[in-house]
Amino acid sequence: MTLDDLRARATELDRGDALAPYRDRFSVPRHANGTEVAYLCGNSLGLAPKATRAFVNEELQAWEALGVEGHFKERRPWVSYHELFAQHLAHVVGARPYEVVAMNTLTVNLHLMLTSFYRPTRTRYKVLVGHTAFPSDRYAIASQVALHGFNPDEAIISAESLAASHVCALIERHKDDLALVLMDGVNYYTGEFIDIAAITEAAHRHGVVAGFDLAHAAGNVPLALHDWNADFAVWCHYKYLNGGPGCVAGCFVHERHGFAREPLPRMAGWWGHDKHARFAMGPRFEPIPGAEGWQLSNPPLFSLAALIPSLEIFSEVGMGGLRAKSEALTGLLDEALRAVLGERVEVITPRDPARRGCQLSVRVKHNARAAFAALGAAGVICDWREPDVIRLAPVPLYNRFADVARCVEVLSCAT
Ligand SMILES: *Cc1c(COP(=O)(O)O)cnc(C)c1O
Repeated sequence: MTLDDLRARATELDRGDALAPYRDRFSVPRHANGTEVAYLCGNSLGLAPKATRAFVNEELQAWEALGVEGHFKERRPWVSYHELFAQHLAHVVGARPYEVVAMNTLTVNLHLMLTSFYRPTRTRYKVLVGHTAFPSDRYAIASQVALHGFNPDEAIISAESLAASHVCALIERHKDDLALVLMDGVNYYTGEFIDIAAITEAAHRHGVVAGFDLAHAAGNVPLALHDWNADFAVWCHYKYLNGGPGCVAGCFVHERHGFAREPLPRMAGWWGHDKHARFAMGPRFEPIPGAEGWQLSNPPLFSLAALIPSLEIFSEVGMGGLRAKSEALTGLLDEALRAVLGERVEVITPRDPARRGCQLSVRVKHNARAAFAALGAAGVICDWREPDVIRLAPVPLYNRFADVARCVEVLSCAT
């Protein structure tokens, strides 16, 4: 494949792309020269839907016009605002609506879930994580392990590979002292999509809890958390789900826990309390059954409002259609990198489309920093991970095949 072939392929694929019109629903940043950038960074911060401004404005105006009465009299009453998300989120992560809730932020939700699901005993207290786990997750786990009086250096086991065969063998090996497996659905560094169903099954076979961080998986790959039997999961909404910087995050609790006869121990707050008795202000906490019962506070309304337009688009398009285009976009990027750049780069993301989402992590063999700078200067927005990896994430909702071609073209001149 030459660069000319690549450009021609991209033009043809863009012409036949049924999702192409969705790009126009997003604001695409512009390069200093006035042209739209090739935004390959939706894995870090998704672009703003054009409708978001109106949704946030509507709530601002309601606050101005109604004051406290907005809780009940607004078109979308604030008191039940979080309920607007259940259907959409259930669709995105493959859950029942009462198994998901939009609340807090990712690391906060991880702590809330660890409080309920990491219940170590003197003999079973270890936690299995991936070796490239995101730092915030590591800090959260280490602090919880220490809070229970264990030594994180000894209690946290790192899986050297995220392949299900390796992870399941580790679970088998540590079955007597393992309390929890906590893995990234899609790894932030390598872009690898793990086998959540197989890992969950292996964990459950030995009475080990299986939880997942879906920060890079939600809105990126098809998920079926309910059927896969995951115990809990957390994710953020500002990456693939375009809810804006610091947006309210998501949380999944499987129905067998959310509706358990004896409610799980947890950090409690009034927004997780039985809705019918919330304003009775009674002294005893009675959790709402399901994921809602883990809410603490009344939610930050403007942040929730900003999340609605993107989730409506996800429900409209469907994860199936998104995934099909995503595989084509990332497939073209992978093929072009190998054909045009050859040995100058190494794609460290798995080649099997079933084992990755849209992101490719590319190790640049020489002058990696300069290559990354050249991409930025040419208006190709992507990101850098030490020591030599460039992450490229073509997102099916707003990226064009032409963005992929441009990226490879710049890289071929710069490496
Ligand atoms: C993005 C990301 C985070 C960020 O956590 P916040 O609490 O949203 O700041 C945490 N974990 C993983 C795996 C991530 O990808």
